[in-house]
Amino acid sequence: MKNKSPSGFQTRAVHEGRGFGGTTGAVMPPVFMTSTFATGNPDGFDYTRSGNPNFRLLESSAASLEGARFATCFASGVSAITAVVSTLQSGDLVLAEENVYGCTYRLFEKVFAKFGVEVRYSDFTQPSNWEQIKRLRPALVWIESPTNPLLKIVDIAGISWVAATVGVPVVVDNTFASPYLQRPLELGATLSLSSTTKYVNGHSDCLGGIVATNDAVWHNKMVFAQKALGLQPSPFDAWLTTRGQRTLALRMERHCANALALARWLEKRKGVRWVRYPFLPSHPQYKLARRQMKAGSGIVTAELACSAKSALAFCRRLKLFTLAESLGGVESLVCHPATMTHASVPPVVRRKVGIGDRLIRLSVGTEDVADLLRDLDEAFAGLS
Ligand SMILES: *Cc1c(COP(=O)(O)O)cnc(C)c1O
Repeated sequence: MKNKSPSGFQTRAVHEGRGFGGTTGAVMPPVFMTSTFATGNPDGFDYTRSGNPNFRLLESSAASLEGARFATCFASGVSAITAVVSTLQSGDLVLAEENVYGCTYRLFEKVFAKFGVEVRYSDFTQPSNWEQIKRLRPALVWIESPTNPLLKIVDIAGISWVAATVGVPVVVDNTFASPYLQRPLELGATLSLSSTTKYVNGHSDCLGGIVATNDAVWHNKMVFAQKALGLQPSPFDAWLTTRGQRTLALRMERHCANALALARWLEKRKGVRWVRYPFLPSHPQYKLARRQMKAGSGIVTAELACSAKSALAFCRRLKLFTLAESLGGVESLVCHPATMTHASVPPVVRRKVGIGDRLIRLSVGTEDVADLLRDLDEAFAGLS
């Protein structure tokens, strides 16, 4: 696997992840739909649970884009999280950002808690809370930035620096930014984890996860988890993700430009209480976002000035934004967190963390921005 390739991001995105064409001259790799391999083959494959040419291509291109020595692919983001947490022992402590992704929280609380892994939550946007890392010496620090759905920005370099003074590894869930906008390993994190289901694949046609690292010991643990826990993707999904990744930079440029335009427009629109977007000066961690990310990514969160029922009706009235879970595809989606992604969180807790019933989350796609604005405008007109 290559490291510190001299080429630029988009050149690497196009040229890495090709190969295994044999003597055919095929410009793109085939899909290796095989469960097993003849013993003694020169490429060293034995069984697809522990490796496949399509995994190897995806892993080398993902590592290149993350600026990492190694990457390991998994069947989903949740599989990648499972792989990392499975390295812990009973009695270990994880110190996690309090606004972690809902399924991460569920895995911690409903699955790994049964095996004796304890998780404590902290608001890592407050640097005064970072001293807990030194005091508690957890086995892992778990952060996410930007967070879902409130788009909090957590200082990856600052936390990684504090954790390094006590030798604690830091995991960053990089799903919302993608390696085009933010590379956690360059900021000092130990592991960069992504649900490639979202921006990296970008076409809403398969699930996947990646863990990238420069640490050979961690890499071996991830390879072990992939095969020992059966967390590998299908060769076809690995192929799709490798293909999606080729246009990551192009798509992210468009997602970011569209989302910024929408966020600015929404901020001025009557009927909107507030808008949250990392690259709006009104964002509480705007300066940090500008320092840590290349652009603001494609998610915009807003609170509407209407009843909860009207907020949901607004979402349904949109034509180009499909009311659906997930994010990061070329098509725009809208989500009403209170009744969808965060429905299982009790209303009091939702209100406490700021996820009100009038909150909407837009995953801004790559359509023409004028059409997206018109769609929003017409949905607002229907509100009154
Ligand atoms: C979607 C998501 C995951 C889980 O990924 P799946 O591919 O759905 O398993 C993890 N973290 C974040 C931030 C996500 O958005």
